[in-house]
Amino acid sequence: MLKPFRTFKGGYRFKNYAGQPAPVLIEADIPKQVVVPLRQGFSSEVKATVKAGDAVFAGQIIGRDDESISSPVHSPVNGIVENIKRMNYFKRDINMVLIRTTNSSREITRLPGYASEWWKLSNEKIEELIYLSGVSSLDREGIPTRFKSSIVQPADVNHLIIHGVGSEPYNISLDLLLEGKNFLNFFEGIKILKRLMPNSKVHLALNARKPKLIEQFVKLTSQIEWLDIYPLEPKYPQGYDEILVPTILHQKFPYGYSAANIGIVVLNIQAVLGVYKAVAEGLPLIERIIAFCGPAMKENIHLKVRTGTLLGDLFYGKLKGERPPRVVLNSLLTGVLMNDFSLPIDRSFTQIIAIEENNKREFLSFMRPGLRRDSYTRTFLSKLFPNIKKIADTNQHGEERPCITCNFCEEICPVGIIPHLLSKYVKKGFIDETIMNYGIFNCIECGLCSFVCPSKIPLVKYMKAGHEKLIMQGCDQAQCILPYFNLKGLEEYRGVTKL
Ligand code: SF4
Ligand code: SF4
Repeated sequence: MLKPFRTFKGGYRFKNYAGQPAPVLIEADIPKQVVVPLRQGFSSEVKATVKAGDAVFAGQIIGRDDESISSPVHSPVNGIVENIKRMNYFKRDINMVLIRTTNSSREITRLPGYASEWWKLSNEKIEELIYLSGVSSLDREGIPTRFKSSIVQPADVNHLIIHGVGSEPYNISLDLLLEGKNFLNFFEGIKILKRLMPNSKVHLALNARKPKLIEQFVKLTSQIEWLDIYPLEPKYPQGYDEILVPTILHQKFPYGYSAANIGIVVLNIQAVLGVYKAVAEGLPLIERIIAFCGPAMKENIHLKVRTGTLLGDLFYGKLKGERPPRVVLNSLLTGVLMNDFSLPIDRSFTQIIAIEENNKREFLSFMRPGLRRDSYTRTFLSKLFPNIKKIADTNQHGEERPCITCNFCEEICPVGIIPHLLSKYVKKGFIDETIMNYGIFNCIECGLCSFVCPSKIPLVKYMKAGHEKLIMQGCDQAQCILPYFNLKGLEEYRGVTKL
């Protein structure tokens, strides 16, 4: 059933940015070597099931651990294992499998027992295929199966939210993901997930600015009473679980924990398509569609890439100039800043954004007309020229300046806290119950306040610092959450996120 348009208070709609990825998909070459982290997505680290010198084929499981919450990891290529060693991977020390490719065929060995007529399979087989494919590790809480792939059991899931809202400044193209047969495959993927989680109500959240797509889904699902469709405003950070759950279900979120702790699973479109591919086509998760975008890229496109491919190989020849000042993974506002191009990509990659940045100080920059920047845009000029493309440069011009109490950060904060006030407390070292009562633990670290601040104050950094100092002083976030929620899988969630 189609539900009325919904949105949330606060947030920010990013419009008209230079360097958006075009709905074009290019298949990257099979890499000559891959480096495969034995921990990917929502999973603890798994044990290697191969050793140096072993021959492996594309799709073969090379690491699994059925005792901990995890999902198997596969070889993305046909080749020889050269080494297994611990390496630093995004500030975590993880075992990596180094494989040299010996045959660049694109063939992928399929999982045994898959069926295009998936409805004929038993539930047990469907869960096994989802687990063995590795797709169960996608998104923030994984996909529950009877194996230890998530912190909840499939029967305990009350709500399944699938989102394709796209509220970041740079998103994977929804039209590309759902083009051709993928549109129906996606729907089959939803039906598989519903079969897996029989007690769940399914909520499909779509971008309200895509009326044709919404109409197609409404037609397709008109006879289905277990699925509702929600047109949502594509306002950042609508895609965050903390915002999606209250917007759709009108219920509170246990900040600092996972939606799965309250019996809700949130998945994106690539995860649902991955479920279909695992069950109906037997494909393990060794390829990702990644948006290569931003004003510092020569071309703004999507690449289909084997996991384990080194970033340096992918970037070769794609950047304007020698090297961009700033490359960010997965989110312009909250993503990891890339400095080491020798690292490989894994299942969790969605976007690689390259931006040109001007760090030079500009005299009275906050008073300049905001035609091309976001934190300066509250001028009449930006309204007069709405079609001028903006440059997403993360607004690091000049140095931090005093707060001018413009309240912009307060207006856009999606969880209704007061960033400028909290940052002042933290800066002055007033770390006590006051900042707890002002809701510092509710900060979801979306980065919006820092992004829009015209004085360039790194507000989110102060939020994180205040949060950490409170915990060091023994103020546990759980004190604010646990009395109000009956959380499931608490210890398991802590176990996976701590590793
Ligand atoms: S946006 Fe920046 S300058 Fe404006 S109130 Fe917030 S901290 Fe102060
Ligand atoms: S205070 Fe936290 S939740 Fe609010 S805008 Fe800043 S980073 Fe986002």
